[in-house]
Amino acid sequence: MAYHLSAAKLQTYQTCPKSYYFKYERGLPGGGFGKSQALGTSLHKALAQIYQDWDYLQPMPSFEWLEYCWQNHSQDLDPSQFREGLTILKNYYDRFMTELPSLRRPLAVEGKIQAPWFLDNIEFTLSGRYDRLDWLGDDLELIDYKSTKEIKSLDSKRIDLQLGLYAIALQHIYNCRLKKLSLIYLRTGDKIEFEVTPEHDRRVRQTIAKMAKQLRGEREWKPHQTKACDRCQYSRYCPAIHAEPDPLPESAKPERELQLTLDL
Ligand code: SF4
Repeated sequence: MAYHLSAAKLQTYQTCPKSYYFKYERGLPGGGFGKSQALGTSLHKALAQIYQDWDYLQPMPSFEWLEYCWQNHSQDLDPSQFREGLTILKNYYDRFMTELPSLRRPLAVEGKIQAPWFLDNIEFTLSGRYDRLDWLGDDLELIDYKSTKEIKSLDSKRIDLQLGLYAIALQHIYNCRLKKLSLIYLRTGDKIEFEVTPEHDRRVRQTIAKMAKQLRGEREWKPHQTKACDRCQYSRYCPAIHAEPDPLPESAKPERELQLTLDL
């Protein structure tokens, strides 16, 4: 059976194998679904409709089009969130749309990527989600909207894993190169871009291949203690933090059988 890989899985494994074990191997639930996430979700859905449903035979949309899409996706928000979201979209419009001669149709919005990947005769399934995929001539630009209040310092290793995995999957699906990953911070109007050079692509693919093989044969799941442990939702179960950690809940998935990895 194909082993499933995503950027989120690789990033979790890179941060701490033990937290990967709790989350993906034993299926323990993660954090809650807070108010600010509800606003972020509504913004993502509105932006998807703005690009997906626009009539591209028309000239540039006015802000009324964005307002209309916002109305469609903000019914569950309270009045202050509704106003905040509208202000964020107005800033987005001013920053990213008004200067354009026309709105360019994206290749896809709110998409799911799924692609097989064979490594040493072992099948992996690569999967991920993206907010928008644009053509850049012959290449691709992947766009991720961020709704966090501030720009968090970005971990280049985490970005590399995301870029590398998407590059492999998009190459398979579209037979095109991923040239750029752009993060758009909706609340601040900042856009941070990461270029993918062929050398970078080659190096990241090697890293992912190594991690994929390790993951498939992993049995130790060693804890990796860092400052991030303070925010870890699994710390109560973690032997690195507690001499007598809580037992896992009965709802935890059973441990998987060891995969045959003789060829690795
Ligand atoms: S508490 Fe720290 S070491 Fe333990 S699982 Fe969480 S991140 Fe890993």
